[in-house]
Amino acid sequence: VTSFAEFDSYVRAREREYIDELKVLIRQPTVSAQGIGIPETARIVLDRTKKRGGINAEALRVDGGPPTIVGETGRGERTLLIYNHYDVQPPDPLDEWATPPFEPTERDGFLFGRGVSDNKGNLLARLQAIEAYRATIGELPLRIRVLYEGEEESGSAHLAAFVARYGERLRADGCIWEAGYKDAAGRPTISCGLKGIAYVELRVRGAIKDAHSSLATIVPNAAWRLVWALATLKNPNDEITIDGFMDAVRPPTAADRELLERLPFDEQGMLRIHGIKRFVRGLEGFELRKKHFFEPTCTICGIVSGYTGAGSKTVLPAVASAKIDFRLVPDLTPEKVTGLLRAHLDRRGFEDIEVVPGHGEPPSRWPTDSVTAKAAVEACRGAYGTEPVVYPLLAGSGPMAQVCDTLGIPVAGFGSGNAASANHAPNENIAIVDYVDHIRAFGRFLHTFAGRALA
Ligand SMILES: [Zn+2]
Repeated sequence: VTSFAEFDSYVRAREREYIDELKVLIRQPTVSAQGIGIPETARIVLDRTKKRGGINAEALRVDGGPPTIVGETGRGERTLLIYNHYDVQPPDPLDEWATPPFEPTERDGFLFGRGVSDNKGNLLARLQAIEAYRATIGELPLRIRVLYEGEEESGSAHLAAFVARYGERLRADGCIWEAGYKDAAGRPTISCGLKGIAYVELRVRGAIKDAHSSLATIVPNAAWRLVWALATLKNPNDEITIDGFMDAVRPPTAADRELLERLPFDEQGMLRIHGIKRFVRGLEGFELRKKHFFEPTCTICGIVSGYTGAGSKTVLPAVASAKIDFRLVPDLTPEKVTGLLRAHLDRRGFEDIEVVPGHGEPPSRWPTDSVTAKAAVEACRGAYGTEPVVYPLLAGSGPMAQVCDTLGIPVAGFGSGNAASANHAPNENIAIVDYVDHIRAFGRFLHTFAGRALA
């Protein structure tokens, strides 16, 4: 049974140093979508991994991909894999930032800058926790492996190949995923999976060019064609009606249902934030939470066709297109979804509608009572002095299946973000106290994951 009092004072005494070290990382832009600053950031991260984390690490590439950092340190019965990414989303729209995205700025106890929450902050905080552990508790009671990716924000195109090539260096008994957030009520949260995603574009071409709308009597209209096809994908009760789609959805287990019963979910806060009077289908309580965490989505992200400018233009559109994203739960995969969608449209005579697949990632879900998840609960309880909220998964997506499903590693995620961290958006931020608390929680996690007790 170990007290973390000395660990905590060690960490708190170094708050300035830790935040300054994070600022160095934030000042270096790393926009994978635009190929900006990738090798430069990889060099800084590799240096910090070795010096701050004491990890024997190197940067490797597969098939012309960006540098991926892997490394190992410590010895023990259990092995932990830490997954983070060092790239960030583009900072646009720039004029909505109160201070420039790559000039880390402190205001009212918060640190603002692109990547402070997603995901450079968590990456560095965990290395700082490893060092603080060694300085105050002693030798690491476990083996730690790290995997730092440089193209997560643009689809992790080389990660599956990387895992296929270097999987032996990533094997572990548990994985800590990139991030985690306090909820709107300020409770720490832990999540044990991610939804997947399938992004598609539907394209329709009618006539060879736009026509005078008086010809609508006899010339087919691409916009109507698209609307009719879209209307077959989902009904007004918000049920996805693609043939075979819902059959692939794994129903919640008894344990899942029990978790959902207890899961805190601020319905009034959500209604207020979104300025709506009721949720889809008028759902509330258990059924609302079940739909949010255990059901897939089919979302029209945008539709384009014809004339939408000022005044009127009586035109008959020759082309129409829609972008759609599906958030996936087990056992739906991007390939399965595009296959089902194609067959569904063909069966209804929409063979002329082109389905163009875009970015896709399968879902990944792990038990909420795995060794990893249980150790995370204990660590958060110890650091925050409150009971963390355990989510079955986050409604967002990421390359978790490529790593954890491929290698069979039960996962949990917790981190330094807050409910208004504005990931991917202007004014991305973390509270400095949350950053320090993540270091405190992560130090404890190294201990609980190794099977040791906290005082
Ligand atoms: Zn991220």
